[in-house]
This record gives sequence, structure tokens and C-alpha cells, in this order.
Amino acid sequence: MSQTPELLQCLIIGSGPAAYSAAIYAARADLKPVVIEGPKPGGQLMDTTDVDNYPGYPDGRTGPEMMEDLKKQALRFETDIRSGWVTKVDFTGPIHKVWVDEKTEIHARTVIIATGASAKWLGLPNEMRLRDLGGGVSACAVCDGFFYRGHTVAMVGAGDTAAEEATYLAKLVKKVYMLVRRDEFRASKAMVHRVENTPNIEVLYNHEVRDVIGGNTVEGVVIENNKTGEKRNLDVTGLFIAIGHKPATELFKGWLDMDDMGYLKHTPDRTSTKVPGVFVAGDCADHVYRQAVTSAGTGCMAALDAERWLAAQGVH
Ligand code: NDP
Repeated sequence: MSQTPELLQCLIIGSGPAAYSAAIYAARADLKPVVIEGPKPGGQLMDTTDVDNYPGYPDGRTGPEMMEDLKKQALRFETDIRSGWVTKVDFTGPIHKVWVDEKTEIHARTVIIATGASAKWLGLPNEMRLRDLGGGVSACAVCDGFFYRGHTVAMVGAGDTAAEEATYLAKLVKKVYMLVRRDEFRASKAMVHRVENTPNIEVLYNHEVRDVIGGNTVEGVVIENNKTGEKRNLDVTGLFIAIGHKPATELFKGWLDMDDMGYLKHTPDRTSTKVPGVFVAGDCADHVYRQAVTSAGTGCMAALDAERWLAAQGVH
């Protein structure tokens, strides 16, 4: 005979700053939240070395240390943190059903989705190696640009993110080489105009990165003109990749509204979705800001929205 699934007030899916912030708020509101950590506990910050822009850490902190701190803070208020992977959801009824690792069914009155997003990479072996070493390969100019003041760096990508990040970097660094794989940008005309009017950005059209040079830190990149086949080395100390992100939202297809890139839609200025009692937080619903602090902020909002929603139902 199968066991009756447990019924929770608040289930949080994810384990980045959004999930833990939601947990801290939900736990302090006595919602007894359960966090299902997912396949990569800690989220994108686990791939980050120094985090110098999260308020409250005057001396900086590494991404993994910061996630450990957030987790500890959530545990301090008795959040029940479980490892596992949510494999299926059913948002048909007033009670939401969630399956962990295909077998364990959990019921929850509110669900906070904070499954995050992941940056896309070129996939070159030396790119991944130096990224993992924290050696000068980054997917976030706002996070890491500061470390390259006065340096020459390369930016890969031609969308709005790449254009925005290149102009951001140009204010800090000596020079930005912008590597665009086609003979035109994908970014909006306004952003391209900004790039073209920034004197220390040099756009190299039809160029792709073939390798990243450097033992422990980036010392250069090998680039190829994909029209002529000509290869050359660029002397750069940082490689920024801005070729898109992928939100982890596959699971919610058919249940929640999402935009054409897969980011979850929510009520403007709220974290609620079209399913009553289901809330979203962090990068899975935000392709614009994508910062640890903005994720944490929306995690807090989602917990407050969940608490108020339960109170309005007369549950809490
Ligand atoms: P996009 O998907 O729009 O652009 C990705 C870019 O990366 C494309 O130019 C693509 O080239 C390039 N690319 C992909 N793979 C590779 C590769 N292997 N090698 C080299 N280049 C590659 O992603 P964004 O993150 O830029 O933007 C996502 C969404 O967010 C867009 O809708 C954008 O408009 C929006 N956005 C809006 C902003 C704003 O309004 N201020 C700011 C930032 C983002 P190709 O063009 O050849 O396919």
C-alpha cells in the first residue's frame, strides 16, 4: 500500500540565492519550508570564484562560501533541506503535487520555483578548465569586470547581453575585443550604436574563438576569421562569454506560462504565476538582471507572497 504523501505549507525548488532567501523568510514566517536542492546544489555561484558585489561582505566571499553561508542561515531557522531532483509536477488542484527522483510524491499548498538558469559556454577544453580555476573566463561582466581594470579583454557574443556587457567593461578596461561570429550583430540597433560609439571596443566580425591560452590564468585567445580561415592570437587577460543563458524550466512546460526563451512569466511586480499558490524567484524568471542580490531579493518576495497567499486562504 502506498504511503500518504506529506502535505507541506511551502515547498521550494532550487538551491541558489533565490531558494535560500525564500527559505529564510518562509521559515521565519513559520511555514516550515522544505527545500529540494536539485542536481547542482548552490547553483551558478558554485562556478564563481570571488563575489565582491553582494552587500554585507565587505571583504568579498567566494561563490561556494557564499552559498554555504546562505544554506547555514536557512538551516538556522530549521529549513528542511533535502537533496533530490524534482522530476514531475502536477499543478491541477489546489494542492500542488511534486515528485522527487520520480518516486517520492510531496504535496504542498505553495510552491516557490527557484530553479535558476545556466550560462552557455563555447565548450572549448581550455575555456572550461580556466573557468573552473577562476582563471579569467567569465559569463558575467558585472560580476567580474572589476578584476580587469586596465586590462585588455575579449567578449564573445553579438546579442544584447554581449553588447551591454562590452560597453560596461569598456568603462573599466583598456580595450575590449568583441568577437562576433557572423557579419552582423543580433543585438538591437540602439545597443549596436552604443558599441560602435565606444572608442575602446574593437568589433571583429566573422571571428570565433578556437582556443584559450594560459596555464592558470588567461594569457590570450586563438581566434579564427571564419571567412578566410586566418588564425591569430589576441593578447587578452580575460575572456567574457555572453552567448545566452538557459533557464531550468523544462519541468514546468504546460503548467506555467513562459516566454519564448523559457523564462517563467509572473504577475508584474509580484512573484505569483497563473497557478494560484505557485511563485517564482531568481534567474528562472529573470533574463535581465541575473545577479545574486536580485535573485535573493525575489526569493524574499516569493516567500512573502506565499505567506500572504496562505493567509488569504485562511490556512496560516
Ligand atoms: P541572444 O540569444 O540574444 O544572443 C546570443 C548571441 O550569442 C548571438 O549573437 C549568437 O550569435 C551568439 N552566439 C551563440 N553561440 C555562439 C557561439 N558558439 N560562438 C559565438 N557566438 C555565439 O542572448 P542574449 O543573452 O544576448 O539575450 C537574451 C535575450 O535577452 C534577448 O532577447 C535580448 O534581447 C534580451 N536582452 C535585453 C537587454 C536589454 O533590453 N537591455 C539586455 C540583455 C538581454 P548569432 O547572432 O550568430 O546567432
